[in-house]
Amino acid sequence: MDWNYQQPVKIIFGNGKISALKEVIAELGETDGILICSRSFRKSGLADKVIAEADGLLTAVYSDVSPNPEVSEVDACAELMRAKGSKFVVALGGGSVMDLAKAAATIATVDESIRFYHGTGEALPETFLPLIAVPTTSGTGSEVTSVAVLSDHATGKKAPIFSPNFFPAYAVVDPELTYTCPPTVTACSGIDVLCQAIEGYWSVNHQPICDALAIHAAKLVFEYLQLAYTNPYDTTAREKMAEASLIAGLAFALPKTTSSHAVSYPLTNLYGIPHGEACGLTIDYFAKVNAQLETDGRVTAFAKALGFADAAAMAEAITALKKQIGLRRDLTDLNLSDAQIDELVQLSHHPNLDNNPVKITDDILYDLFGTLTKKD
Ligand code: NAD
Repeated sequence: MDWNYQQPVKIIFGNGKISALKEVIAELGETDGILICSRSFRKSGLADKVIAEADGLLTAVYSDVSPNPEVSEVDACAELMRAKGSKFVVALGGGSVMDLAKAAATIATVDESIRFYHGTGEALPETFLPLIAVPTTSGTGSEVTSVAVLSDHATGKKAPIFSPNFFPAYAVVDPELTYTCPPTVTACSGIDVLCQAIEGYWSVNHQPICDALAIHAAKLVFEYLQLAYTNPYDTTAREKMAEASLIAGLAFALPKTTSSHAVSYPLTNLYGIPHGEACGLTIDYFAKVNAQLETDGRVTAFAKALGFADAAAMAEAITALKKQIGLRRDLTDLNLSDAQIDELVQLSHHPNLDNNPVKITDDILYDLFGTLTKKD
């Protein structure tokens, strides 16, 4: 088996590490940076705290970032960066902020809209501004990946866009920044960690380093997610979930995600289901289907490495975890019509589906949505 491994992001991990920001920026050797964060951090005072930590090196702020960031927000942020002459970027937030920042850090160096590149197959420019990613959720692992997931409301498209430029220069992972995540954000982002670990492992692009990372991350989620959900100030649970998120990011960065992520995009686009919850909705179903149809036993091997008897037992544990942390386990409340299910099946044929270890046919997708919409 041939494989490659590359991980270009310098990682700084630990409680209180946000206070190392000034030294990190000094290592970059740049001045006049922009802070990109969510609106709530301007209100909570966290943005001001980070600007103060940077000691004059952050001279602009952009905070119009929606969950599932929109291409128009990337363009607006890039416009501000050009106007302010920004030379580097600090992204303080969850996956939405980090993904917007990745795209804006490239687009700001040219005079074009991100729309020209998003979902068009057009190669992104080679120029970009260096990025320091500071995650505030334990979820996406975006701080160590080369992908940004963007939405375009005009076309109804939510799709990942890849570029080697998108790898941040630094990831500063400070678990204390996640303490303020409300339980639903902890649950949604935490189940995303589990999906990324599992999908990174069973992806057709799997490889041994990422396999080991995926097992490590998934074990941590089973042990600590419910604790972090129940007690947001459980320092061990928060630290272990931050570790799991970062390691799961490394686990899927090269193998890429598969079926649950493919199906999640239309669920988020059409019905507003948060990203992690949408991925988690189908991961137990796909664990069972993949284990039934696979020929190499990897799904079962993964379940066993986590201490389960088989993949079905792991799927049951995932379903139980979702219940414990208040995540949806079906779509019955949406009262979907046959036409809406047809649309979901059609839109689930996203390129990520090709990374799944077994072929996901329309019959399987209809069975999935039939199961999720069946009323008892
Ligand atoms: P998010 O960034 O959308 O944040 C969810 C909500 O939590 C927002 O309202 C945000 O303001 C709030 N929030 C974030 N941190 C907080 C904190 N510490 N305290 C209080 N509130 C906080 O959620 P996410 O799950 O981190 O990111 C989801 C996005 O990332 C989706 O668009 C998804 O498609 C994308 N994603 C990207 C990658 C990647 O590798 N680039 C991987 C998976 C998912």
